[in-house]
Amino acid sequence: MAEEKGLNFIEEIVEEDLKNGKYQQIITRFPPEPNGYLHIGHASSICLNFGLTEKYGGYTNLRFDDTNPVTEETEYVESIKEDVKWLGFTWKNELYASDYFDTLYGFAVDLVKKGLAYIDDSSSEEIARLKGTPTEPGSNSPYRNRSVEENLDLFERMKNGEFKDGSKTLRAKIDMAHSNMLMRDPVLYRIKHAHHHRTGNKWCIYPMYDFAHGQSDSIEEVTHSLCTLEFVPHRELYNWLIEKLEIYPSRQYEFARRNLTYTITSKRKLLQLVNEKYVNGWDDPRMTTISGMRRRGFTPASIRDFASRIGVAKRENLVSMSLLEHCVREDLNRIAIRRMAVLDPVKLIITNYPNGQTEEVLSENNPEAEDNGGTRPVIFSGELWIEKEDFMETPAKKWFRLAPGALVRLKSAYIIKCEGYNKDSNGNITEIHCTYLPESKSGNDVSGIRTKGTIHWVSAAHAAKAEVRLYDRLFSVEDPAAEEKDFLEYVNPGSLQVIPEAYIEADLGNAKPGDRYQFIRKGYFIADNDSTPQHLIFNRTVTLKDTWAKESRK
Ligand code: ATP
Ligand code: MG
Repeated sequence: MAEEKGLNFIEEIVEEDLKNGKYQQIITRFPPEPNGYLHIGHASSICLNFGLTEKYGGYTNLRFDDTNPVTEETEYVESIKEDVKWLGFTWKNELYASDYFDTLYGFAVDLVKKGLAYIDDSSSEEIARLKGTPTEPGSNSPYRNRSVEENLDLFERMKNGEFKDGSKTLRAKIDMAHSNMLMRDPVLYRIKHAHHHRTGNKWCIYPMYDFAHGQSDSIEEVTHSLCTLEFVPHRELYNWLIEKLEIYPSRQYEFARRNLTYTITSKRKLLQLVNEKYVNGWDDPRMTTISGMRRRGFTPASIRDFASRIGVAKRENLVSMSLLEHCVREDLNRIAIRRMAVLDPVKLIITNYPNGQTEEVLSENNPEAEDNGGTRPVIFSGELWIEKEDFMETPAKKWFRLAPGALVRLKSAYIIKCEGYNKDSNGNITEIHCTYLPESKSGNDVSGIRTKGTIHWVSAAHAAKAEVRLYDRLFSVEDPAAEEKDFLEYVNPGSLQVIPEAYIEADLGNAKPGDRYQFIRKGYFIADNDSTPQHLIFNRTVTLKDTWAKESRK
């Protein structure tokens, strides 16, 4: 809990502002650009923005930063709304920067009238050339001293579509020698004859980020505008525009972007993975998009918990994927019901179990659940499937599972003893033969024998079949974006393993998409969106233990 950890630096600012009576309520916004699906980095920002107003009172707007007509799509808007809701947050207003195009145009006219903005006919190359460098001042554009009347006339004609793309811009008139390059007469408006997903063909001039973002904040009277560190140099312009326009004084605060090991948190790169078919769409369970994680079986609570544990930082760093997995394990351990599933089956015959007999044994649904989960009947018979890896022909030291002559317990059922096995001509084990101890039934064990190993099983005649998809990290290096070669070179070729036919407990045949289970000893699983009773599909969310920690010790 944040309270126990003390306040983060943004909470400190907010508490100070409330104590001083600067604000009666806190207003924040989450401002995604609808040019892709949200990822785990955005989840941090969502939890921060919504978390603040939940904690201190006030509200959060969802504002689509849709000022670039070329890359934005309605599909993305819908997915973003779904993701924020799924994470468990409710926005006060659904807003679009494009709703403010008229107001923003008015603000621009105001600046022109104040002599604080001008129309420049220079090409973008020319503007860049005159910009100077961080160590040398820039030079004034030859169009910088146009009269207010001429600027007003040209700006209106820009809006009316008289000029071609790139032929003119509206620029703030600040200082071409300013130490902050962003203050050297930044471009506020550009011409783009493009269709916009909401305003259609109404506009052919579009405001730049710096002239839309802060102004939108002011229009909504956002008190604390939270953004990532790359906007630190923009703050000066943010404040300049608010001051000169004499609009509501929103304040910008910056925090560090959150990046995770073994994955990518950039919409542009995630889009590349989708377009170039490294993954099967934005919601591929290997993607750390919110929709991918949802399909993979992550819970909203686990993602919120993760965001709260990593908190807010002032400096960028890589957060370990293991922490995210730890969070989901902890949540699923409480809520996922236990079932048995055999992923890599070999037949086990109990030679002294009466032919054709079946019985029900009781197995716990979830001993970790608050209500203890209760039990379920599982059908037991003399022909079972068990995992191949639970048998060793020549057992290693400290092998407590099945081996010739060894005793092991079948989960919730009997102790068995391995009496023999068959192999095919390639040396593969095809069948294991055991006897069982009738007096060793779980819950009523009078055998006096204690076994060290317990293995899971399903009855061969009663098991349902399912496709099971096992996922590994999507990249084989910790920080693919920081490597020498293109990040695509580091995609892990083994990130998806499909088991076409696993055997699962019969009642899993009723699993509906989104149902979560712990397959005993195998990990946490969720029924995939495409799963049907005719073709069951389960995705492994995460293994039961952290297999990565082991690997990094190698
Ligand atoms: P991307 O590079 O993935 O496109 P972005 O910052 O351009 O990211 P936006 O849609 O503009 O994406 O982001 C919406 C909000 O989410 C912004 O306030 C942004 O600062 C925040 N955000 C984006 N990525 C991260 C991240 N990795 N960690 C924390 N916050 C992030
Ligand atoms: Mg962006």
